[in-house]
Amino acid sequence: MSSVDFESLGLSAPVLKAVKQLGYEQPTPIQAGSIPHILEGRDVIGSAQTGTGKTAAYALPILHRLGGHRQGAAPRCLVPELAIQVAEAFQSYAKHIKGFNVLPIYGGADIGGQLRSLKRGVQVVVGTPGRMLDHLRRRSLDLSQIKGLILDEADEMLRMGFIDDVETILAQTPPECQRALFSATMPPTIRRVAEKYLGDAERVNIEAKTKTVERIEQQYVTVKSHQKMDALTRVLK
Ligand code: AMP
Repeated sequence: MSSVDFESLGLSAPVLKAVKQLGYEQPTPIQAGSIPHILEGRDVIGSAQTGTGKTAAYALPILHRLGGHRQGAAPRCLVPELAIQVAEAFQSYAKHIKGFNVLPIYGGADIGGQLRSLKRGVQVVVGTPGRMLDHLRRRSLDLSQIKGLILDEADEMLRMGFIDDVETILAQTPPECQRALFSATMPPTIRRVAEKYLGDAERVNIEAKTKTVERIEQQYVTVKSHQKMDALTRVLK
């Protein structure tokens, strides 16, 4: 954990309220490093793994910047993402911002509901690159008002074969839109994407030794699958 607190980072009241209710006491290092730059409107390249509080590192300042007022129906922030938890986290961080809508658009989910929501208007769209491209082809996703784009887990996108889709989306976002890229590693393809789309970004690197939450002790026990519940109960006791 870092020595700064959330209040001193300058986040808006509804965002701070959500953070407090979630029980976050202090920003994690990636949050303390990224939030001030994103609040200032800078592009950010962050090296951080899952579990370091990365989602809040970009979601909190983006929510602060977007504010609560609806300005037209077109989305203002895009988060190509493979994990449904990110949309849920965004929603929980945004819960005290009036009139704020985060829309998860994942492949496999009913497209009708997504089309209706996009028509009604949402501020943030989080979802799989493939489904985003689907909506772009159908012209149901309008990128002309995008002010922020977050590329989370960029190396995972590459590993799973989604990086071309992500680049197609990136190329269609307005050139002046603010961008942040997070990745645990920086393979050459990700470096190239970063150079092309986030040329003058601030870099936030978290030391390997701080990559896990200090106050959580981790242990494992090898058991047969049918013994899992019994073993867990004994550990918890
Ligand atoms: P992430 O790396 O974004 O997947 O976050 C990992 C977990 O840490 C999530 O369950 C978050 O709710 C939690 N978390 C994020 N930031 C903080 C914080 N500042 N204090 C405590 N927990 C946090």
